[in-house]
Amino acid sequence: MAGQTIAVLGGGWGGLTAANALRTLLPDEHRVVLVTKSPTFCVPFSNLWVMTGERADPKAGERPIQGLSQRGIEVVVDEVQGIDVLRKSVRTAAAELGYDYLIVALGADYAPEQVPGFSEAAFNLYESAGAYALQVALSEFEQGRVVVLIARMPFKCPAAPYEAAFLVDAVLQIKGVRDRAEVAVYTPEPQPMPVAGRAVGEALEKLLAERGIAYFPKRSVQRIDPVARTIAFGDGEEQVPFDLLVGIPPHVPPPAVRELLGPRGWISVDAETMETEHERVFAIGDVTVIPLKHGLPLPKAGVFAAAQAEVAARNIAARVRGRVSSERFDGQGFCYIEVADGLAAYGDGNFYADPAPAITLFPPSYEYFVQKRAWEKNILLSLL
Ligand SMILES: Cc1cc2nc3c(=O)[nH]c(=O)nc-3n(C[C@H](O)[C@H](O)[C@H](O)COP(=O)(O)OP(=O)(O)OC[C@H]3O[C@@H](n4cnc5c(N)ncnc54)[C@H](O)[C@@H]3O)c2cc1C
Repeated sequence: MAGQTIAVLGGGWGGLTAANALRTLLPDEHRVVLVTKSPTFCVPFSNLWVMTGERADPKAGERPIQGLSQRGIEVVVDEVQGIDVLRKSVRTAAAELGYDYLIVALGADYAPEQVPGFSEAAFNLYESAGAYALQVALSEFEQGRVVVLIARMPFKCPAAPYEAAFLVDAVLQIKGVRDRAEVAVYTPEPQPMPVAGRAVGEALEKLLAERGIAYFPKRSVQRIDPVARTIAFGDGEEQVPFDLLVGIPPHVPPPAVRELLGPRGWISVDAETMETEHERVFAIGDVTVIPLKHGLPLPKAGVFAAAQAEVAARNIAARVRGRVSSERFDGQGFCYIEVADGLAAYGDGNFYADPAPAITLFPPSYEYFVQKRAWEKNILLSLL
């Protein structure tokens, strides 16, 4: 069979997993081309460690992706601008790339402009520069009100904002200023991690309360006043003050996938095969939406992006080799939730369970804390 070109768009957690899997599964006559705009990768949850200062240098967790070319993956560092599914081609800033099979793994973009005042007032924890700016701001913080603000749903990693609150609390304790500070979380969610069910939410609310972290669910931010340092919720009837704002910005699909968006605003896929409605086009990770049995979407999380990447890669490799593809994503997932003081909780379960995800949350332990650090190392080692 003639050599085929499999293009992977996006060099994040999902795209790197997919490109590596494809290269392992397919002989060299087939091209695996990775197109991504960033020449480096870091495991996003390390932003939390940058924020606390545990990782003083924000670059310490970064790795160049160019080395993948030694594994036989063609790396193109360029911006994807559009995808033509009829002509089977991808337009980038510099060129056009034809493909036989495509995996779209372009993640989610941030749209802070959707909330007036967000960019001026908030430190964006979800970007490495924002996490570093938070490290500096926390080191200078002496007293006042720290607010962790989830602007909109959906957002990546349902646990990360709560981890941020636990860790901020601990940083302020260690500095000896916690008794002069308030820490509060505001979110549009009805409870922490609603997708995981009531019991998980209650366990997290208890952990927040034990640390004196105030929790304000069902709050939809309308605007932020960076001068008065207030956040307006709802129609503006509730105004709350802040001195330091840890922000989770609104998430939107990257403009390059505009032609592929489904009715739910993200790319719709077969929940098991990761195939889109477009011929030979698969999509994985944060750029997709998968409604679960109870109606909420599958969370945007790296653990799912990676598992879906393996599935998409195996299905494509089977077809390239003229075989029947039978690989299925089963909705299984886990997460470590850092609660500070050298402890992390662990959640695990099946998100495709009917009628609702069956998730168990294991109490915080030092073992899970250590496992999370080892996980980062393993991800970096396996992907780059
Ligand atoms: C602070 C934080 C903590 C987190 N903690 C966890 C955790 O503990 N567990 C977990 O499972 N998940 C966690 N996540 C979520 C996880 O990082 C994401 O869900 C995961 O990275 C999604 O993978 P992806 O490949 O879909 O997207 P991404 O990893 O975001 O990759 C998208 C890639 O596409 C590239 N790209 C975007 N647009 C273009 C374009 N136009 N042209 C070219 N390239 C482009 C980007 O540069 C990027 O390389 C966390 C996220 C954050 C921010």
